[in-house]
Amino acid sequence: MWMDGKDPDVVIVGAGPVGLTLANLLGTQGVRTLVIERNAALEPEPRAVTLDDESLRTLQGAGLLDAVLKDVVLGYGVQYHDWRGRPFAAIQPTRQEYGYPKRNAFRQPLLVRTLFEGLARFEHVAVKFGHSFTAFEQDAEGITVQVQAEGEARAVRARWLVACDGGRSPVRECCKIVLEGETYAERWLIVDLAERTVPLRHTSTYCDPRRPTIRLPGPRGALRYEFMLREGDRDEDVLDERQFREWIARRVPADRDLPLVRKVIYGFHARVATRWREGRVLFAGDAAHLTPPFAGQGLNSGIRDAANLAWKLAALLRGSLPESVLDSYEQERRPHATALIQMALRIGRVMQPKSVLGAALTQTALRVACLLPACRDYILQLKFKPKPRFAQGCFLPSPNLSATELAPQPWVHQAPATALRLDEVLGAGFSVIGWDAAVVREAARQWVPQGLGTGQVALVRSEDDFLDTPADDGAVVRVRDASGELAALLARFGAAALVLRPDRYVYAVVPQAA
Ligand SMILES: Cc1cc2nc3c(=O)[nH]c(=O)nc-3n(C[C@H](O)[C@H](O)[C@H](O)COP(=O)(O)OP(=O)(O)OC[C@H]3O[C@@H](n4cnc5c(N)ncnc54)[C@H](O)[C@@H]3O)c2cc1C
Repeated sequence: MWMDGKDPDVVIVGAGPVGLTLANLLGTQGVRTLVIERNAALEPEPRAVTLDDESLRTLQGAGLLDAVLKDVVLGYGVQYHDWRGRPFAAIQPTRQEYGYPKRNAFRQPLLVRTLFEGLARFEHVAVKFGHSFTAFEQDAEGITVQVQAEGEARAVRARWLVACDGGRSPVRECCKIVLEGETYAERWLIVDLAERTVPLRHTSTYCDPRRPTIRLPGPRGALRYEFMLREGDRDEDVLDERQFREWIARRVPADRDLPLVRKVIYGFHARVATRWREGRVLFAGDAAHLTPPFAGQGLNSGIRDAANLAWKLAALLRGSLPESVLDSYEQERRPHATALIQMALRIGRVMQPKSVLGAALTQTALRVACLLPACRDYILQLKFKPKPRFAQGCFLPSPNLSATELAPQPWVHQAPATALRLDEVLGAGFSVIGWDAAVVREAARQWVPQGLGTGQVALVRSEDDFLDTPADDGAVVRVRDASGELAALLARFGAAALVLRPDRYVYAVVPQAA
């Protein structure tokens, strides 16, 4: 038997960062989960290097924030250099609407290790290495997954299967689902170095058509260089250390002789699976979408998939929501993942100018545009990044709620003097925030699906004290909206209270009394 004599509810194929994030989120929701991974151990390849604010919020929700932050450099921006090496634009966001800086440096293998270790908290979650998915059959009650392990064919029975098995997804192949989109001819050389001596933590992007280059510092002295290859470049030449160390020295001489961790050439894709669900099978992460790396969003999109799917699967397994909730997964996630792919392609066009003339034109246009404060702010604050906002999906549409969006996560104060991130007060399930405790209580009773409620929060205005705390508020917690962001959120929706989903998207608006 697979798990203490019982079948799992969910089988996840692939112990990459997306599969392990989903396993942690399902673990916190009490879902019996089995992860199967064909490799004998965790993947050591240092691929992704940028983690965004939404991902950190999800990892906070998985109870892994402190463990993850050990290996993260918070808040790194991007400086764009023109074809002559002069700075012409910058991204340096200062707003932290979801509780964290918008760009943070990390290393994928360290995150994957932390996610794996996080699973030790759950007796109901198991990971089997050396177990390869080969096929499945499904029926009205569940799914039988065929697995190859130690030279033997075995079968595991579950209710749902989530394919987090990467870009080549064998599960997707089994379903004959294709990835629509394009694969690009440009190739990049990646060089990972250690023991960085230059302390600058920001990314430097050299938009030089002769050799587009990116320099990305990381945690614990890590440093990555990425060089775009040109048509005539031969692999053996560009992989020669003398060659790329010369390119490095041209950018930052102090980096030239740093110890080499690895060198690799890769191409990139901009593709999305035509379907994200096949009955009891769902696709997440690279199995569902491949994002060009220029925006550092591929894995972040995968973590958003996991956050979207975890609570829906848990609610369905608990019988609190009908199976149709799973249809909202693709409905919500596909347009957003696609928009991020388009953003990565646009950034790529600026980063990979084809000629000096093209570079000079684009870069001059951007430099001039940045003279306008609104334009500079748009780029500097990363406002061009698609908002986590869905026009269709799992929410209760109303005149005040035509599209759902991710609620902000400001710091709030709890009496007498504790500062907390909002989600710490909201808990793991649905939650309600509003001004009046009675309205909050009533909204929780009326709008939160059966068995899924936790947090009930009544807000105290930023300028007020806790004087009005009644002796018995029942389950309602009072916190002060220290920054005024929650007041602004409620006002924007014309809401007396908002019902939030477990992934912190707005589920329903309780309108202000007329
Ligand atoms: C050079 C580079 C730089 C990048 N930079 C960034 C960045 O800065 N930010 C960002 O967000 N993203 C970035 N990405 C993208 C990011 O690395 C991927 O999106 C991420 O690894 C996807 O995670 P995943 O868990 O979906 O898939 P994977 O990491 O591919 O994991 C899939 C897992 O499934 C397993 N598997 C496959 N087949 C089977 C089977 N039959 N049975 C069992 N297990 C199986 C595999 O062994 C693997 O462990 C970058 C990618 C590259 C290549």
